[in-house]
Amino acid sequence: MKNKESKEIRHDWSAMEVQHIYNQPVLELVYQAAQVHRMWHEPGTVQLCTLLSIKTGGCPEDCAYCGQAARYHTGIQVKALMDKEAVLDCARRAQAAGSTRFCMAAAWREVRDNADFDRVLEMVKGVHELGLEVCCTLGMLTERQANRLQQAGLFAYNHNLDSSEAYYEQIIQTRSYDQRLETLGHVRQAGILVCCGGIIGLGETIEDRIHMLCTLSNLPEHPESVPINALARVPGTPLADLPRVDTWEMVRMIATARLLMPQSMIRLSAGRSEMNTLEQAWCFMAGANAVFTSESETLLVTPNPKLEEDRMMFEKLGLKLLKKP
Ligand code: SF4
Repeated sequence: MKNKESKEIRHDWSAMEVQHIYNQPVLELVYQAAQVHRMWHEPGTVQLCTLLSIKTGGCPEDCAYCGQAARYHTGIQVKALMDKEAVLDCARRAQAAGSTRFCMAAAWREVRDNADFDRVLEMVKGVHELGLEVCCTLGMLTERQANRLQQAGLFAYNHNLDSSEAYYEQIIQTRSYDQRLETLGHVRQAGILVCCGGIIGLGETIEDRIHMLCTLSNLPEHPESVPINALARVPGTPLADLPRVDTWEMVRMIATARLLMPQSMIRLSAGRSEMNTLEQAWCFMAGANAVFTSESETLLVTPNPKLEEDRMMFEKLGLKLLKKP
């Protein structure tokens, strides 16, 4: 495991190596990850990213964890695509509150070449002009659509792998792992940065987590942003009754991701609302250096801490908000 001593980026991690890293005693794992984190990043800084659902619910996909899938009875209110001005107002408030990244999410299977996509392109352009890192998560993309987003000023595109290839079809049947990778390829080819991570607590094994981390860290270029999510158990979804993810599992995932992809931003994502300050502090110590926030105190449709609570946490931990480079 060479990353510990040298500023080397590797793309040839074996499952056995990753397993060895992941299964170390947790204090040793966190210690190594914290060392690597300090070699590549300004310690004590966290990027705030505002996530806005610009089109909510009614999605035709069957992702077993998702409250926005139309087929599950989750009681989530379906909302049509937002107006551009309302989105830009939200982006301005996010910027004033300290966010340097603004991510717009639409519950679509894929992007269609229609008036809604044209509206999203206008939103991307507007947020880009505010000087924010603008990100979108809109489902599958063609090469041409990725190019249009890039031309509009898109900085990053989020498309998660969710789990290992082997476990993926237990969670999602309406599209394949290869289609996920294909969209990521289109994003890269268009010159847009990649935001790609996964979720733990879906009923997967440790081996599945290790294989997902292997896939991410063996991509020709590491995703510049890697969200690590704990399952948010949404009533009405098939995974609603699974147990809460133990925080040490999140710490292990974050620390391993930090060691495998030292240069990436590791985003402590869904699951924070069930963690106290101490638990989140361990995640920051393990190498997480970004969190999501939103005005609605939800992460899309699941709970997320209030911005005020986050501010108090950052102050208590001595964490500073990352400024735009
Ligand atoms: S995760 Fe995305 S694609 Fe899957 S059901 Fe939810 S909104 Fe649709």
